[in-house]
Amino acid sequence: MTHTAASATQPAPSVTRTNARNSNPFSRLLHNSRCTAGSGVALATRHSSLATLLLFLAVSSISGCSPEPKPTITLAITHATVIDATGAPPQPDTTVLIAGWSIIAVGPSRFIAIPRRAPVLDATGKFLIPGLVDSHVHLTAAAEPTGSRQFIIPLLIANGITTVRDMGGKVEYLTQLRSEISKGKLLGPQIFFPGPYLDGEPPSFLPSITVKTASEARAAVDQLFSQDVDFIKVQSALSREAFFAIAEESKARHIRFLGHVPDRVSALEASNAGQASIEHLTGILLACSAKEDELRQQQFAPNPPNATPEQSAARQRAWQRQLLDSYSAAKADALIQAFVRNGTAQVPTFPILVHLAFMTPKTNLQNDPRMKFVPQQERKIWQVGIQGVLAHSGPEDFALREEIVKRSLEIVGKMQQAGERIMAGTDTPAPNVFPGSSLHEDLVYLVQAGLTPMQALQAATKNPAEFLNQLDTHGTIAPGKFADLVLLDANPLTDIHNTQAIRAVVLRGHLLDRPALDALLTSVEHFAATHWGSHALTTPR
Ligand SMILES: [Zn+2]
Repeated sequence: MTHTAASATQPAPSVTRTNARNSNPFSRLLHNSRCTAGSGVALATRHSSLATLLLFLAVSSISGCSPEPKPTITLAITHATVIDATGAPPQPDTTVLIAGWSIIAVGPSRFIAIPRRAPVLDATGKFLIPGLVDSHVHLTAAAEPTGSRQFIIPLLIANGITTVRDMGGKVEYLTQLRSEISKGKLLGPQIFFPGPYLDGEPPSFLPSITVKTASEARAAVDQLFSQDVDFIKVQSALSREAFFAIAEESKARHIRFLGHVPDRVSALEASNAGQASIEHLTGILLACSAKEDELRQQQFAPNPPNATPEQSAARQRAWQRQLLDSYSAAKADALIQAFVRNGTAQVPTFPILVHLAFMTPKTNLQNDPRMKFVPQQERKIWQVGIQGVLAHSGPEDFALREEIVKRSLEIVGKMQQAGERIMAGTDTPAPNVFPGSSLHEDLVYLVQAGLTPMQALQAATKNPAEFLNQLDTHGTIAPGKFADLVLLDANPLTDIHNTQAIRAVVLRGHLLDRPALDALLTSVEHFAATHWGSHALTTPR
């Protein structure tokens, strides 16, 4: 029920944590690789002007590197149609030169010379897009230490996801993962994370830090800040006092807070307080209701003692009916205007909304062939979650849920039109939300919502790169950026489903062709069939 509520936000601090400390090991590595690979070929092809080249050389020497004229080309992708995700039209017959971790040249194939010994990937008839970003995952929510390494991460890579926002997990686990990946010990995506949730009593999910008062909330923000997290994640059960204290303390520390709109806070208040992103459209429908306050009150009214599960379900049904019937288009427009003004990003996570929170028998993926990738222990947990959502529900509930999803899609379409930043995300590995492939489902839902295929693609590339203050190194295809790329067999701009036709993935310059991607899938399938997990898990989200 709380999934449908409302929301809103305010400007992100201009100096973010990520930039301020350069805590991301990849940014440092790219800087180094640019020093050795950056000059001559790359810049000359991109910027014809000598002035630009000289400026680059000057910058290079300021940063203490001596430019070398001939970088070793480690991969040349030739004759591809490049869809760089800037919004520019596709560039046919284009060659992309990669040296080490970075792209050093992008241009018409007939103009770009390929060094004799360079490995060449002929991409004739194929489409090259930037590596994808899932802005809402929980890498460590399935039996660590194997769940992330043998189940989730290989599926992310096999599906072209090269960067993630991990939206809740233990700092120790995530720091360890990030370190293994950056040292090259583990093939994995770039990771940004807030660590544990800040939540009220009792917390909605684990791991959480429970904060009730303003001073507890401030202390928790300070503690996480000292642990070098990228963001602070707020959760549904926070008190108003704690939430607004988190907002203030985060602002003082120049770290962004994001997450659910707490049940006791309106989406507009959250946006105005500076919440950087809203997940799962929490609080949104409620904030679009002409009866917002009244419905919020009802949400907190206790169930009558001895209420049967059927009675509780009926009560929820009545609440949802009112929520939909009291929808005000004018209120929605005003709310979205506030989001745009405040720079609030939206991460709708349709896969978890459609396939779990508002699941119907039609959208239950219980018998999906991808279930073979889910470890047996995890499958049991999924089963319990799925049964829980379907229990005590009938046709009337399912019709309501479909209506809620339809309205949510409409609202996201309006958000895009108004210029709000939309980011693709999934909430994997929540039940029915498959690592990797579910991000491609989200892109399909975003197009259903009214985004163009290019806008949907940007929701998984350029938009999150901007949000993460990484646009200079990620998010589009250009010289100087990381070589995180996905090669497709078909054009995603004519049909967004084509992002699923993956021929190859390039992860920080490392080529994974189709056989290598298939080997990853096979390894996960084998792990899933044989592994029971080591301990009980927390439910993600
Ligand atoms: Zn989540």
